[in-house]
Amino acid sequence: VGSDGVRITMESALTARDRVGVQDFVLLENHTSEAAFMENLRKRFKENLIYTYIGSVLVSVNPYKDLEIYTKNHMERYRGVNFYEVSPHIYAVSDNSYRSMRTERKDQCILISGESGAGKTEASKKILQYYAVTCPASDQVETVKDRLLQSNPVLEAFGNAKTLRNDNSSRFGKYMDIQFDFKGAPVGGHILNYLLEKSRVVHQNHGERNFHIFYQLIEGGEEDLLRRLGLERNPQQYQYLVKVGDTRASLYGWVWNGTLFTFGPESVQLFVAQGNCPKVSSINDRSDWKVVRKALSVIGFNEDEVEELLNIIASVLHLGNIQYGGEDSGNAYITTDTQIKYLARLKSPLNLEQAASARDALSKAVYGRTFTWLVNKINVSLAYKDSPLWMCVIGLLDIYGFEVFQHNSFEQFCINYCNEKLQQLFIELTLKSEQDEYEAEGITWEPVQYFNNKIICDLVEEKFKGIISILDEECLRPGDASDFTFLEKLENTVGGHAHLTTHKLADGKTRKVMGREEFRLLHYAGEVNYNVNGFLDKNNDLLFRNLKEVMCMSNNKILTQCFDRAELKDSKRPETAATQFKTSLAKLMEILMSKEPSYVRCIKPNDAKQAGRFDEVLIRHQVKYLGLMENLRVRRAGFAYRRHYETFLQRYKSLCPETWPSWQGKLADGVSTLVKHLGYKPEEYKLGRSKIFIRFPKTLFATEDALET
Ligand code: ATP
Ligand code: MG
Repeated sequence: VGSDGVRITMESALTARDRVGVQDFVLLENHTSEAAFMENLRKRFKENLIYTYIGSVLVSVNPYKDLEIYTKNHMERYRGVNFYEVSPHIYAVSDNSYRSMRTERKDQCILISGESGAGKTEASKKILQYYAVTCPASDQVETVKDRLLQSNPVLEAFGNAKTLRNDNSSRFGKYMDIQFDFKGAPVGGHILNYLLEKSRVVHQNHGERNFHIFYQLIEGGEEDLLRRLGLERNPQQYQYLVKVGDTRASLYGWVWNGTLFTFGPESVQLFVAQGNCPKVSSINDRSDWKVVRKALSVIGFNEDEVEELLNIIASVLHLGNIQYGGEDSGNAYITTDTQIKYLARLKSPLNLEQAASARDALSKAVYGRTFTWLVNKINVSLAYKDSPLWMCVIGLLDIYGFEVFQHNSFEQFCINYCNEKLQQLFIELTLKSEQDEYEAEGITWEPVQYFNNKIICDLVEEKFKGIISILDEECLRPGDASDFTFLEKLENTVGGHAHLTTHKLADGKTRKVMGREEFRLLHYAGEVNYNVNGFLDKNNDLLFRNLKEVMCMSNNKILTQCFDRAELKDSKRPETAATQFKTSLAKLMEILMSKEPSYVRCIKPNDAKQAGRFDEVLIRHQVKYLGLMENLRVRRAGFAYRRHYETFLQRYKSLCPETWPSWQGKLADGVSTLVKHLGYKPEEYKLGRSKIFIRFPKTLFATEDALET
């Protein structure tokens, strides 16, 4: 009996199905009914059974409370045990991938998806912990395990933030390879990061925060350290961290290369309302600071490097406090004394708004590049030092889920495009693996109808006439190009596409719910309106050349690695943000395609971050856009249930005198004898090379019931 009170074999759990539902959705009698699906999910959630399978896909519902299901005992229970013999668990998926890697010698990957707050990052941490505890180890491996584990708090400090949806929301995509040697011990790792939401450095919505590290440093940093960085222990002092009211701080300062530059009190403030949310009840910045500091040293940062890193973080805060005055001519000037010669270059041709946006562009560039530097530094620390004789990897993908907000911008466009790509991969690979299994077992494949979202991926990424191409074209075009000429061009070029519409193109009904500045994409997961405001700027992602020059001159070693002089000489325009993202996604798809995938589909039960609340509407929506019904349909297209002959015979042999107490002949013959004795009709089952395939759950349930009596 499992700690969840349920017998832990698959078959015995079937008998408890009235109370706790079925632990694999393929066993639902009416598998096409969304209501039945929801009911099963709800029943299990109420019993704290947050995991359910669809075949080999794990569906997980965030419990928003600590369940006693992640102990060392649990890890042991899942170690080396067949997937279906124990109740569904993230450890079962972890172990299954690990064993496939070991026995088939094939690289694996675990793709974790779901919307913000659904539990993706927690799931990826559970997987990593499972390997750290259960895999064989040696001294060197202990260091690697530590470093793998400790990379999380560091990346979370710099890449996660409190949002309205999640107090610890990852604001970047992450793919991590864990490398194993021939003994199955983890020996190294490598991280790829995707599209950090760096606009958060300079602006957050109300109720949200900047990246955790800023608050951790201010709350937890030692007195000495703060003094050296010129920081005060008060987030309210920093424009990038709090909403600015009409109070004017009397003195602003900026530290660069250890020099404190100060600014006069006459500053005119130019600001955007910030998150105004320095304290969050679920977050303890001070203790998190200690964790991060320790993690940095485990990863191999020395004191100087830490100081340089924090210097950059402090500088961004100071930079945000730079204020501009307005001249009669309309040009901005920095309200400070003349020693700040670097920043004075911001002055001449810019008006107030332009000057502020140049300042913010610098902050974003500095932070964004420092983040990438940090990932590289972690990679150096995780790199496998010996040349491997044999190595296999398990990749973990924890990437932003599909996003639909009231107001959707360039970031959502990129994120949702990424989800289209992953969905496409998912459809292709699940269908393919089903087909492969049928083929391997010598059973005829019955074609399944499904929606192929390739048409949407093409709409976004196709050369010349895809949305990204059109956007890039506007970004490069001199003259009057603007967000609105981009929108017009979309209308003219892809206006007829079934998955795109704009206010102008829409019919009367659609037009009412669309703004004039929006285009709408019909994603596989639903419709999203994107507001084109800011698309060109965000895609260009430009930084004034003289600011780049200044950064290259810095004494800060990290910064000089982030801003390379070669970049200044290169007269070629850097690739746009969308094109860079497209290229990195294409690479990611290649990586994933070359591996054997497993899937974890995370669901968020409510918007209140509360335990025990199962919000039907919200969950049904996620079931839809995670494509779970479609997934189930594919899985059930032919047969609901399949098991190896041995497992099947072992469980049911007592139901037939010829197979009891043991069957001496070939396993397939034993199963054949058994099911004939049970009265299975030929159309109800098929015998493959190593497995029996049963078409309907009711056949199996009847056999289960026979066991009980
Ligand atoms: P985002 O896309 O915003 O990064 P996410 O899917 O990564 O979201 P997580 O940060 O993993 O979401 O989870 C959000 C919160 O939900 C966690 O901080 C934790 O409080 C809770 N949570 C998630 N999974 C579990 C779990 N298995 N057990 C207990 N609590 C959980
Ligand atoms: Mg996350």
